[in-house]
Amino acid sequence: VSPVTHALTGWLIAQPLHKRSERVAVTCAAVIADLDGLSLLGGVDAYHKWHHTFGHNVFFAFAVSIGIGVYFRSLKSGLLGLVAFHSHILEDMLGSGAGWGVPYFWPASERIYSTPQPFQWELDSWQNLAFTAIFLIATLWLGLKKRRTIVEVFSEKADLKVVTALGERFKKSA
Ligand SMILES: [Zn+2]
Repeated sequence: VSPVTHALTGWLIAQPLHKRSERVAVTCAAVIADLDGLSLLGGVDAYHKWHHTFGHNVFFAFAVSIGIGVYFRSLKSGLLGLVAFHSHILEDMLGSGAGWGVPYFWPASERIYSTPQPFQWELDSWQNLAFTAIFLIATLWLGLKKRRTIVEVFSEKADLKVVTALGERFKKSA
């Protein structure tokens, strides 16, 4: 599943948090598993060996979530971090294509977990596209309703511009 979809999911999960920095951290928790995908930089062989290993497992999930919870001294952000991380695992099981399960207990066990057919979609499937579209619409809706979008992860200033533009667009069409 594309990092964009993971990020949108994580950002939506982060919405109960009041501080932008905490929402950013939880959004990152939904993407960080793909650190092991960076093995692609070492070539296709390295990618096949390492992708869906040290990033995509329960131990890393807890390390990241506890890190967030301790850093912000907030149980809520830690728990939402854990949920966000697992949204990545679930999305990968659903939408990475057949044969791309997740070794959830790596390195303790090499066993690969995957969702049963027909709940395995290819990367470019309409299901992945539909979910991404739904998350995008929810994000834009929040832009109107709560005056923030996922752009806040990169820059508060840029996000304000997006929110303002959204508001004007909405006024015009209303
Ligand atoms: Zn992944």
